[in-house]
Amino acid sequence: MTNVLVTGGAGYIGSHACKVLAANGFTPVTFDNCSTGWEQAVKFGPLAKGDLLDCARLDEVFAEYQPVAVMHFAALSQVGESMQLPGRYWRENVTGALNLIEAAVAAECKNFVFSSTCATYGDQDNVVLNEDTPQMPINAYGGSKLAIEQMLQDFAASDGLNHVIFRYFNVAGADPEAEVGEFHQPETHLIPLMLDAIEGKRAALTVFGTDYDTPDGTCIRDYVHVMDLVEAHVLGLKWLQDGKGNRVFNLGTGDGFSVREVIEHSQSVTNKAVPYTEGDRRPGDCTKLVSGSTRAISELGWKPSRSNLSDMIRDAWRWHQNTAAHYER
Ligand code: UDP
Repeated sequence: MTNVLVTGGAGYIGSHACKVLAANGFTPVTFDNCSTGWEQAVKFGPLAKGDLLDCARLDEVFAEYQPVAVMHFAALSQVGESMQLPGRYWRENVTGALNLIEAAVAAECKNFVFSSTCATYGDQDNVVLNEDTPQMPINAYGGSKLAIEQMLQDFAASDGLNHVIFRYFNVAGADPEAEVGEFHQPETHLIPLMLDAIEGKRAALTVFGTDYDTPDGTCIRDYVHVMDLVEAHVLGLKWLQDGKGNRVFNLGTGDGFSVREVIEHSQSVTNKAVPYTEGDRRPGDCTKLVSGSTRAISELGWKPSRSNLSDMIRDAWRWHQNTAAHYER
């Protein structure tokens, strides 16, 4: 039995990670409080319900399952909300990670894969974002993730905690079999909101800011397919099991798309118009976040094969239309 503890396994990215871990011979044990995740998304291994702020529960779960590694996805992850409620982000993300790391170290589970974010780089105009770029987050979400990266370095030095840090760019798409997919309540992400607007589930999408210093005035992001992203995590886990040491990897494609370009692609994939209006900037948004690194490809052997924008929207659209698969509390 090769258990991997997957915090946030009931969420969007975590549930996809569980699927790919199971396909690679691991048993994903989901640790989730199901506050934003969904019990119905836990399909590929057991659910150990619990909260990262509950240290006793963490110790219990490590003792029961004796995982060989941790994949830590559980976190609050909305940039806009993090600007309104920074305390929640600092408390839940940072304290939660600290509790998890301490429980892992106490249980001698010393391989740790962490989901970090390109939001740790901040708003750096004309700077190539690779793993050595200085990190200067401009929102509490990015700040909380950077703090956890630093925490991992400290525990590596003190306790030999081996870790791989993945800095994600924008994750999109869904499992092509539509067993799991992206479903947030409330939804704040561009692609699912757009698909809702197309289906008339909401009035219209608001484009947040059209006066950015980009060719069409809207923000630019680097979108990566969720299945490609979680496959990198399995490679990261094997990297740690092979004793290759602590490493940071960007996970992005290097291609940037503006909000307007995402809208155009969605219209052509779905053959339907996206109703939208133009609104103010959303506090905390960076102008452009595009990866400038191929380290994951060259060192990890990552082979992203689904991360072109139309494929990602097509997979998201398939999942989105399969309403029977959407979750309920
Ligand atoms: N965005 C938008 N309208 C929305 C949601 C998002 O214009 O209703 C923009 C947002 O400003 C950003 C991009 O879409 O430039 C991606 O935002 P998302 O929330 O999906 O991911 P983030 O980049 O914040 O992680």
